[in-house]
Amino acid sequence: MAKNPKYVYFFGSGKAEGKAEMKNLLGGKGANLAEMTNIGLPVPAGFTISTDVCTYYYGHGQTYPRSLKKEVEAALAKVEKAMGAKFGDPSNPLLVSVRSGARASMPGMMDTILNLGLNNKTVEGLIKKTKNERFVYDSYRRFVQMYGDVVLGLKPVHKDDIDPFEAIIEQKKKERGVHLDTDLTADDLKDLVGRFKTAVKERTGRDFPENPMDQMWGAVSSVFGSWMNERAIAYRRLYDIPEAWGTAVNIQSMVFGNMGEDSGTGVAFTRDAATGENVFYGEYLMNAQGEDVVAGTRTPLPISQLAKQDPKIYGQLDKIRKNLEKHYRDMMDVEFTIQQGTLYMLQCRVGKRTSFAEIKIAVDMVKEKLITDREALLRVQPDQLNQLLRPIFDLKEKELAVKGGRLLAKGLNAGPGAAAGRVVFNAHDAEEWGKRGEKVILTRIETSPEDIKGMNAAEGILTARGGMTSHAALVARQMGRVCVAGCSTLDIDYSTHVMKVAGQVIKEGDWISIDGTTGEVINGKVNTKPSEVLQVLIDKTMDPKDAPVFQTFDQIMKWADKYRRLKIRTNADQPDQSANAVAFGAQGIGLCRTEHMFFGEGKIGPMREMILADTVEERKAALAKLLPLQRKDFAGIFEVMNGRPVTIRTIDPPLHEFVPHEEKAQRELAAQIGISYEKVKQRVESLHEFNPMLGFRGCRLGIVYPESTEMQSRAVFEAAAEVKKRGIPVEPEVMIPLVGNVKELQHQAKIVRETAEAVMKEQKVKFPYLVGTMIEIPRGAVTADEIACVAEFFSFGTNDLTQTTLGISRDDSARFIAPYVDREIYSKDPFEVLDRTGVGAMMKIAVEKGRSSRPDIKLGICGEHGGEPSSIEFCHLLGLNYVSCSPFRVPIARLAAARAALLNDKPVTQGSSAGKAKKASGRKPARKR
Ligand code: PEP
Ligand code: MG
Repeated sequence: MAKNPKYVYFFGSGKAEGKAEMKNLLGGKGANLAEMTNIGLPVPAGFTISTDVCTYYYGHGQTYPRSLKKEVEAALAKVEKAMGAKFGDPSNPLLVSVRSGARASMPGMMDTILNLGLNNKTVEGLIKKTKNERFVYDSYRRFVQMYGDVVLGLKPVHKDDIDPFEAIIEQKKKERGVHLDTDLTADDLKDLVGRFKTAVKERTGRDFPENPMDQMWGAVSSVFGSWMNERAIAYRRLYDIPEAWGTAVNIQSMVFGNMGEDSGTGVAFTRDAATGENVFYGEYLMNAQGEDVVAGTRTPLPISQLAKQDPKIYGQLDKIRKNLEKHYRDMMDVEFTIQQGTLYMLQCRVGKRTSFAEIKIAVDMVKEKLITDREALLRVQPDQLNQLLRPIFDLKEKELAVKGGRLLAKGLNAGPGAAAGRVVFNAHDAEEWGKRGEKVILTRIETSPEDIKGMNAAEGILTARGGMTSHAALVARQMGRVCVAGCSTLDIDYSTHVMKVAGQVIKEGDWISIDGTTGEVINGKVNTKPSEVLQVLIDKTMDPKDAPVFQTFDQIMKWADKYRRLKIRTNADQPDQSANAVAFGAQGIGLCRTEHMFFGEGKIGPMREMILADTVEERKAALAKLLPLQRKDFAGIFEVMNGRPVTIRTIDPPLHEFVPHEEKAQRELAAQIGISYEKVKQRVESLHEFNPMLGFRGCRLGIVYPESTEMQSRAVFEAAAEVKKRGIPVEPEVMIPLVGNVKELQHQAKIVRETAEAVMKEQKVKFPYLVGTMIEIPRGAVTADEIACVAEFFSFGTNDLTQTTLGISRDDSARFIAPYVDREIYSKDPFEVLDRTGVGAMMKIAVEKGRSSRPDIKLGICGEHGGEPSSIEFCHLLGLNYVSCSPFRVPIARLAAARAALLNDKPVTQGSSAGKAKKASGRKPARKR
């Protein structure tokens, strides 16, 4: 008979059945509890019910595998042995916690129950054991409250409603005339337990479960059930966590941080999670349970204070900190409890951190020889670099604001960066206002997991309560949001949508500015300024020596360049854009959209003349006016690019985009070029197309108006000649758009080549040049072997190739793409992340066919996907030569290309950072033009 699969994994007494590598099965928490046990850290015994059970549970009508019960009982017996106590034993009771634990951490998204196993009998045993009646009844009332809220569903649905248990506590305090929970006596707490149970009976019609085993199974079901709660689903969507992963359940012996002043609890990071600095960072509370620290209901003390308060425990913790970093080779976040002077480790996991910290820690750990440069690159998600490129406050303006008395308050600098926005007091409003395009600062007394959508929609988050590890702080950092937390002087009134602070009244909709690097909250709007990286690279207002953030950024970029195979080019149409891109590391221009130049100084007039011309002569006359203007633009770009290849595309968009459509503007144009208004009107009408994106555009324009291709080529090559003569090397590449038939390219390439040769002869100068095409319609891809006989390079125009392969209009897809993505018809917007299956297959055909007739053909991509990490990986796999993206995405592309090489070309020893905060940059492919 086949052996039953193993579903339960024990840990305790220095030995565990699991280990860190078993995250998929045991979840992050379970795997790390096992690992900590194995490396000799003091971990209270427990066991993990595997994620397989969650999968089974949802696949079998919310039931468990038959063998589970026995396995749980056996594991529980081992725990009892390890802890010297018995579950449900009235004289020596064992209490446990029941917690969720998925593969990727989902802070606060799922359920947790503490102090499970207490009932009217065990409570007596625990009192005898601890000789602390108040503590025991406090634990008991917490348990009943938590169990009632979470398992029995008494938690209020609406976040502004009051928890029924909290209402009972408030009532009790009123009766007793006290203000603090800590003022309640053991008898008061005992009375509360009774009242809580009555509330449960009233609300659910059932008694509170007294049998500890019933309590445990209720909690286990509730944890598995919470995998499908609304906020867990929303979180999974946001962070790309597949539903199929499921959660594990950890059942672990309780240790108590609330057993008096020699007990306590805390959370800590082995390095500073905000800045990445190599210092022990965290906070703790004496005489408290873990929830008090995380929930932010009491503001905890910095861990450095523990060194003074209890040097022995601090010393142990600091040693554990170092051991953990050595063992895991990463920054870890730990939860610990001190029970009557003994330290216990309750959790450790790879710590969440800001992008600043991520990059700094990765670079520092290479220097400390904890990890290799390859591993450092694999730890930094390309999109995280966005955070380094984000604005900071204009310091002078901020100083003025502070001097002018606009500093409202100072809280904790929980999420660095600068944000200004209008105050809203709940997550729903943040979402709604955000949708309207308003910048908002979500201002809450404290946040809770159901606020994540609103937090995501906000520029910044401000809370009145909670520490650096409160929900608001953790989640904001993970999302890359600016956050000031624990700003206790804020007096927020949700009902009137008003907050009072520093004697001022701030209403909903008022502007405030928050500095997540210093914790300052400022009244009104303070303008922002580019980041340090931009100040060094773009504005050149900062010396790299004085810019530590830039230095770490630069180090990552240098390592990325060492490993990447793809070259990175940029899409730029102006010299200043090109210069920015070069500063960011671009190695060439992959797409210069010439039409963007026509809206520049003095060019739109002759352009319109050219479009409205009746005869070839008239058209040529207009083109002759455009020639010097375009030549100047191209020369500027060649100069900046200084010998790097520059791909210039001949005019692509439908011509109606260049002519005015309103009567007033048409009349002005008629007067300007000396023809009648009626004629202008009639010509503009004749340009109307039903489907312009599939109409008279791309190479079709140059085929019907060959003189236009000739003029553009002449402008390119004359500019090249001029710049070359000035001693600057040039490498122009002329690109023909929207080619589907080799004859189209033959026609256009002939003009381009003849013009190149003519210009070189006229100017008596030689320079290398290429003629190539975009592959952006399916016929072009499937006949790429024919096309490559003419084209010296292909550049994939994946914006159009997506549009034409999917038959989805790139300009009209917005209204149905979101529902498509929701239904997972496409897992991501295909205009943002390359559809490998469809569009990717087209590209593969084109690559293979292109190389079959021209083995050394140069291959690149210039659609918006060229700056998106997953699409870049696909381009790497296809063996393209380069990707081209907008200037500010160049650093992201450099890192993405390196990661693609490291992940796909060589075996990777250290795990990639799957499941880490991964927020897409949110960029959509630019609407055409
Ligand atoms: C493309 O189609 O991918 C492309 C780069 O060209 P455009 O966006 O200008 O059509
Ligand atoms: Mg295109």
